[in-house]
Amino acid sequence: MSEPAGRDVLVVGAGLAAAQTVAELREAGFDGRIRVLGGEGVPPYDRPPLSKHLFDRPHPSWLTDEIGVDLRALADEVRLDEPARGLLPGPRPAVLTDGGWVAADHVVLATGAHAVRVPGWEAALTLHTAADAERLRTALRPGSRLVVIGAGWIGAEVAGVAAAAGHRVTVVEAAGAPLSAALGEAVGGLTAGWYHEAGVELLTGARVAAVRPDAVELADGRRLPADVVLAAVGARPATAWLGRSLPLAPDGAVPVGHRYAVLGAVEPQRPPAPTEGHPVFVVRDGTGALASGRRELPGLWAVGDVASRWSPRHGTVPGGHWDGALRGPRVLVGHLLGTPVPAPADDPAPYVFSTQLGHDLALFGAPGPGDEVLLRGDPTAGAGWSAIWLAGERATAALVVDRPRDVGAARRLFAGAELPRVDRVTAADPGLPLRTA
Ligand SMILES: Cc1cc2nc3c(=O)[nH]c(=O)nc-3n(C[C@H](O)[C@H](O)[C@H](O)COP(=O)(O)OP(=O)(O)OC[C@H]3O[C@@H](n4cnc5c(N)ncnc54)[C@H](O)[C@@H]3O)c2cc1C
Repeated sequence: MSEPAGRDVLVVGAGLAAAQTVAELREAGFDGRIRVLGGEGVPPYDRPPLSKHLFDRPHPSWLTDEIGVDLRALADEVRLDEPARGLLPGPRPAVLTDGGWVAADHVVLATGAHAVRVPGWEAALTLHTAADAERLRTALRPGSRLVVIGAGWIGAEVAGVAAAAGHRVTVVEAAGAPLSAALGEAVGGLTAGWYHEAGVELLTGARVAAVRPDAVELADGRRLPADVVLAAVGARPATAWLGRSLPLAPDGAVPVGHRYAVLGAVEPQRPPAPTEGHPVFVVRDGTGALASGRRELPGLWAVGDVASRWSPRHGTVPGGHWDGALRGPRVLVGHLLGTPVPAPADDPAPYVFSTQLGHDLALFGAPGPGDEVLLRGDPTAGAGWSAIWLAGERATAALVVDRPRDVGAARRLFAGAELPRVDRVTAADPGLPLRTA
């Protein structure tokens, strides 16, 4: 589907997805005007080191150094401290700033996410920005008692580095196991032993009743004294500024189709004749609720943590991970300029990496709640292992733990146009290569 390129692009957000969008536009030869609006007042930086290198990298890891993208050199205008306040969709969409409305042929929404703040937990810190990391570092004095609420990716990473730095760390998790939201309790539970080994106390099935400046109180009456409390209970797409201008997904994300074009409201009554350039999605396989019956809005695109993308292979793919913000822009820009990236690279598989509590994790694909789980290797043997999620004969996801030789193979498994078919016996044997049947 070819899209007239237009002569100007406005990118909203100045993080990884925004910087990559600008870089890909220039890389593809776009010589029109590019303007960028940011909300943090600083150039784009990398977020994964904020938790993994909380203590040993006290300054932001600038994207100019990390991925070689210099926003100021590539864009015509970069306003790092001028957040968008509103959006007016239309043939030439416009964005409201403190200085007035800014219209463009194409507007790319890349405002990312923010940490969830729970009402009543004002005494807890959160970790999403470089400023948050600075606050957390400063608050942690030698030997501090740190209570981390949430054993998700960020909670686990911070707990590990804080314990290694000599702090006394307790992690409180409401679910029955760490990483449950991402991996389910069965596989997430295989990481529970890592906490003890790293000198971290892990309390699962523990609900927080109150956060006080000096303690966390649990619903079962236990009181955990704390010098510092970190609430690491997830992130939400940063879309409050959009008001009611777009129909958002239930989690607040901006719904986009496989082209990264923003989808309008569901049009249930008439599966209409596709308008050239702005097709209506009709998805019948049960995974396409996000996209089905919705028309692409002209000139509006979204990528990175702010977007919830419909993937023909994986169904709904929420934002929240670095690789999506890095690789999505290339696909978006291909469609925006009318030179689409060829399949299957036009549908990047979800990929999450993490280093936590002394272990390296790589998750490819999207585990489904009802999927069968196949273990490859013994998680208790200390030699690395993998978990493969299966829906029938097809793998939906693969987690590789401390086994670098399986990382490339797992990545290749999910690089095809369809979910890979795997042979159970071969896949479960760590002595045999991991590959499509
Ligand atoms: C501590 C931490 C550790 C992480 N570790 C990992 C990891 O190990 N592996 C992994 O896969 N992922 C990790 N992630 C997630 C990863 O960093 C994100 O997926 C990635 O940063 C998303 O990039 P983005 O550009 O979409 O959003 P962001 O990085 O959030 O950037 C969005 C930018 O938009 C700006 N903005 C917001 N609202 C507005 C507005 N109204 N107007 C203008 N600008 C606005 C924001 O200030 C921000 O600078 C981690 C995240 C955090 C916070």
